[in-house]
Amino acid sequence: MATVASEPKIARPQIRQTNCFIGGQWIPAASGKTFETINPATEEVIAQVAEGDAEDVDKAVHAAREALERGPWATMDARDRGALMNKLADLMTEELDELAALESLDNGKPVRDARAADLPLAIDCLRYYAGWADKLHGQTIPVRGNYFTYTRREPVGVVGQIIPWNFPILMVAWKWGPALAAGCTIVMKPAEQTPLTCLRLARLAQKAGIPDGVINVVPGYGPTAGASIVKHPGVDKVAFTGEHITAQTIMRDASQTLKRLSFELGGKSPNIVFADSDLDAAAAGAHFGLYFNQGQCCCAGSRLFVEEKVHDEFVDRIASMNKTRKLGDPLDPTTEQGPQVDKAQFDKIMKYIGLGQSEGAKCVTGGKRFGERGYYIEPTLFTGVEDEMKIAREEIFGPVLSVLKFKNVDEIVERSNNTFYGLAAAVWTRDVGKAHKLAASLKAGTVWVNCYDVFDAAAPFGGFKMSGQGRELGERGLDAYTEWKTVTVALG
Ligand code: ADP
Repeated sequence: MATVASEPKIARPQIRQTNCFIGGQWIPAASGKTFETINPATEEVIAQVAEGDAEDVDKAVHAAREALERGPWATMDARDRGALMNKLADLMTEELDELAALESLDNGKPVRDARAADLPLAIDCLRYYAGWADKLHGQTIPVRGNYFTYTRREPVGVVGQIIPWNFPILMVAWKWGPALAAGCTIVMKPAEQTPLTCLRLARLAQKAGIPDGVINVVPGYGPTAGASIVKHPGVDKVAFTGEHITAQTIMRDASQTLKRLSFELGGKSPNIVFADSDLDAAAAGAHFGLYFNQGQCCCAGSRLFVEEKVHDEFVDRIASMNKTRKLGDPLDPTTEQGPQVDKAQFDKIMKYIGLGQSEGAKCVTGGKRFGERGYYIEPTLFTGVEDEMKIAREEIFGPVLSVLKFKNVDEIVERSNNTFYGLAAAVWTRDVGKAHKLAASLKAGTVWVNCYDVFDAAAPFGGFKMSGQGRELGERGLDAYTEWKTVTVALG
């Protein structure tokens, strides 16, 4: 591990948007309040951002309703909607470096990850859904009697979208893509930790020609701005990514107006390594599957099950990768691991590290804060972890990997599924029969075989059990943004 954070090699990006974006206008919060967004690498304030609340949400919902029902969006040909989405993707490609730097500044993720993963995936997602805009169609139905019956797929309406801080740009694309393709209008609340890139993307959307009012962004806190979106009677649907506890609150708040809801929540994903796998590939995949993005991934492979006979050798491989991992300034393009997003996350992770030690797991690498400034945590590896330990059951959302031993296939299915989460799982083996058997038995929305964290805009993603409701991405991702209407015509 490098011991000194290197000097930034990329210029600090300019902060251009910090107000709410409502009906195409940049306006301060009605209350006049602002909140600070912090650079997690230095703990310094980056900017003051408008702190939206109920009144701002109400204005945004009205602007979105107006755009949905009366603006140019309402009558625009679907293919033209797709063209505007592609234009937004073009502008993001042009500004890729600046957007990546801004994401890195606000979130703390290494700029090289933002450039290589977040931005390309986000751009690809918008292009993928741009292609769907003119391909959402109904069916003709052969009903009894002298009737002509057909279905139409219509936009669900004004959608509220509440996103987390771990992949701010990518979450915008996952949410805007299907909503815009379906013809919906949007009120988005970015996470309070990372509002800057979402606001920048709203500016680019306007520049791309997406009509005013179609996309509105209200930065602010969850229980105020977020809850106002969920409770507003003018919002038809809420899409949320975050913690399952927040989803439970949202479900309660949305019950008054019976809103449509889609959720992408947490996980405690099993990553299962058999002795017959390519151990080099499995070790690299297990390392990436947990430590990528500072461990702040809902699908992180945080329960690493390793077959007993290769356990020690496998642990050594992960440990040596941890020892050479380069922590430092996220804006340095050679940095591999940045800080956690904020102090609250840092404290929570450090608490779990202490808990792992007191529960009797062995801390093989890491376990401490890195440096004296910024919310850095050393890549931490626990062995001797047992199924019932808290570090094996609860989502840590940080660079903390728990290794558990197993003996055979039957045991591993039961142990892997012994969680209320069900977001992702992975299997490493050269035995194709075993791989498919496990893929069918694991209760998870995504199963990776001999790979980890492979995402594609065309492949649905979402959770079983308490990891979510509905799917994002792919054709299934459009379900949450459309209503089916049945039209029956008497033929006389
Ligand atoms: P995390 O702990 O990772 O920040 P959260 O689920 O708390 O995850 O936050 C995800 C998003 O949900 C953020 O944008 C946050 O502001 C928002 N949020 C938090 N609480 C609520 C709430 N009661 N209603 C609506 N949105 C909320």
